Amino acid sequence: MTVAHDESLAPLWAVLEPLTDPEIPVVSLRELGILREVRMGSDGQAEVVITPTYSGCPAMGQIEDDVRAAIATAGLQARVVTQLSPAWTTDWMTPAAREKLRAYGIAPPQCSSAPTGHANVIRFAPPPCSTQPIACPQCGSTRTTETSPFGSTACKALYRCLDCLEPFDYFKPY
Ligand SMILES: [Zn+2]
Repeated sequence: MTVAHDESLAPLWAVLEPLTDPEIPVVSLRELGILREVRMGSDGQAEVVITPTYSGCPAMGQIEDDVRAAIATAGLQARVVTQLSPAWTTDWMTPAAREKLRAYGIAPPQCSSAPTGHANVIRFAPPPCSTQPIACPQCGSTRTTETSPFGSTACKALYRCLDCLEPFDYFKPY
């Protein structure tokens, strides 16, 4: 694992950095933890490793297409490797990604869904689930209530704030 900063891979990182989740255009794939790694394969060809979010989020096919298109447009050579294990969880989101979600009006996942495993990946572990309320991304109030287990997509739940009365999406932890 000493090739992580291989300079020959820097152009790939630069091309991939601006890519975002089509559903959440303010958060990059790297910040979401979907873009896992850019590495040199054993055969000398660069590899871009992505890990899909869970199947309830329909954007993954488009994300993979976006990654391929960005590489091709830049005239670079790399293959896209889809890595299913360890499975993606919302724990992989960086603190910056959570903050951007909130600013975008989506309450970020607040608790860890994966108590075990992932021993070899960096965790940005949020507090344990317990009884922590979901804070309204508009006014910060924790007097909120779930109005539907499914929001604009299956990976979000629909909440309503009891103080400012605004509905908002909550990015469910998983
Ligand atoms: Zn509110």
